[in-house]
Amino acid sequence: YPNPAKQMAHTGDYDSCNAEMRYEWSREACAVLRNVFKLPGFRHNQLEAINATLSGKDVFVLMPTGGGKSLCYQLPALVYGGKTKGTTIVISPLISLMQDQVEHLLEKGIKAAMVSSRGDAGERRNTFQQLKSGDLSLLYVSPEMLTTNSQLRNVISSLYHRDCLARIVIDEAHCVSSWGHDFRPDYKQLGQFKKDYPNVPLMALTATANERVRLDVGFNLNITGCALFTQSFNRPNLYYEVRDKQRDVLAEIKELMKVKYPGKSGIIYCHSKNSCEETATKLNRLGLKVTYYHAGMDPEERLHVQIGWQEGRYQAICATVAFGMGIDKADVRFVVHYTLPRNLEGYYQETGRAGRDGLPSECILYYAYRDATSIMTMIDRDKDIDYDTKEKQRTFLKQVLQYCENQTDCRRHQVLQYFNEKFDSKNCHNQCDNCRIATVCEFETRDITGITKDIIRTILAIQDDNVTMLHCMDVFRGAKTAKIQSAGHNNVPGYAAGKDVERTDMERIFHHLVAQSILKESAIVNKSGYASSYLRAGSRAVGLLSGTEKLTLAFIKNGAAKKSKPTPKPVNSASKSSAPKSKTKPTKTASKTGRPRFGVSKG
Ligand code: ADP
Ligand code: MG
Ligand code: ZN
Repeated sequence: YPNPAKQMAHTGDYDSCNAEMRYEWSREACAVLRNVFKLPGFRHNQLEAINATLSGKDVFVLMPTGGGKSLCYQLPALVYGGKTKGTTIVISPLISLMQDQVEHLLEKGIKAAMVSSRGDAGERRNTFQQLKSGDLSLLYVSPEMLTTNSQLRNVISSLYHRDCLARIVIDEAHCVSSWGHDFRPDYKQLGQFKKDYPNVPLMALTATANERVRLDVGFNLNITGCALFTQSFNRPNLYYEVRDKQRDVLAEIKELMKVKYPGKSGIIYCHSKNSCEETATKLNRLGLKVTYYHAGMDPEERLHVQIGWQEGRYQAICATVAFGMGIDKADVRFVVHYTLPRNLEGYYQETGRAGRDGLPSECILYYAYRDATSIMTMIDRDKDIDYDTKEKQRTFLKQVLQYCENQTDCRRHQVLQYFNEKFDSKNCHNQCDNCRIATVCEFETRDITGITKDIIRTILAIQDDNVTMLHCMDVFRGAKTAKIQSAGHNNVPGYAAGKDVERTDMERIFHHLVAQSILKESAIVNKSGYASSYLRAGSRAVGLLSGTEKLTLAFIKNGAAKKSKPTPKPVNSASKSSAPKSKTKPTKTASKTGRPRFGVSKG
């Protein structure tokens, strides 16, 4: 298959800088690109977006992570375009992100500053002074600052009245939408800009392509008629894989770091502060240079860790999702999700931090159904979010579950579909686990409508007794446990209806039904404050039972899988002995599908 690096729209294929000289600022824009940013040419859509904003239009830029969004507003900030240059105000959600950008700009000799809740009064006075005297090309502010600091608002207004407000930029604009995965209430009020300063061009940028979010952002920012620049979100140089978590994950990570990518950088996403620290410690014990990063650390410490990783002193960083946004490291070779991500949008952005330089990189997600259950429980128990938010988060999680449980469709096809982009899996070139497995295994689509109806009947009969998924499977399989007998569950409709279904297939079906809202798990807290997850009929259960809808699920054909199953790559034996022993016997789930392992192949 072709070298993925070559296909990557934004590494090869420059729009030559000299090709378009039709605007009065074209010459200046090219000079700034070369002399200030020291770049040879524009990437896809950069020049188009720059021309649009310099023409005074409102612009919405959708570009995958690493696509080069910053240049779309940093370059115009340095171009006169005939009139006074003025100041560009950039609203950005994270302080670390602003800091990073301001530092980079200052290094290039560009006058930039930031106003955030951090920084002392003296510093801020100084910044305001510079701003007033028209001395700043770019000012980064946090949305919170705009809400709370009236002095800042006054200065911006005075810039406007002196015709020195060049443009307003809203980076990570998906934060405006409550439909996004990363909603910030303070972003909502940014819609005021277009009302207060209707003739100041606004530019919104995001790597989130979800259509609902996109519409929401345009609407909230009052730029519904703006120029839209979008592109395929496919990242051809990334290899995607979902792995069963019942394996020796740490040993696999060790192999990845020591054998496959020695001396190369990566990120390991963990779900909590504790898990970041624990995982880092465990990997340290395996002799790996790994550290952690999360929101509980103080800013200095975080910056220290971030720089250590950027400079390669740490090979990998165990981080929460707080890490990565806006961090500029082009040669990240692997992104591992140690636990299930909470939504596909975030997942895609996080994996997008791999391979910004266009070279082959891989994204591995370790999946265990139990992780979904515990996240579901966390959502149920979260006292800080309202019902609607919970429902939304549950929906997001089910989409992730669906993605992980789907072992047949191309990963790219699945994720991009979520972003309303049609992707032909032929163009994946076997750069995902599902496409690769399809080359050696045969699939069959089975009708699971009958089984599903039986399962629904079973659960309806026993759900009031607060049963776990495991118990429900036992009933369905016709087990004779003491628990089943004492509860009388051996006499309910559906008992033993699934006695011929293989255990592993049954697990897949149950998980699939949860992802489809036909079953649901909800957390119930008992008297001692301990939460358990119980299985219930989901919102689609009754409709399915009485309706004519058909449900199917793809399974790997047994014979085919066994016959041509390639031998998994051996795990480095040294790492095996030093790693904690895997508690599981020859794992159920390993035999579940007999899925071979693959790695990214280089070029
Ligand atoms: P995004 O905000 O879209 O995630 P960035 O603006 O942070 O992406 O840019 C990602 C990387 O691409 C940076 O290292 C940046 O210097 C680089 N880059 C941006 N534009 C170009 C270009 N025209 N040519 C080469 N590299 C570029
Ligand atoms: Mg960015
Ligand atoms: Zn694929």
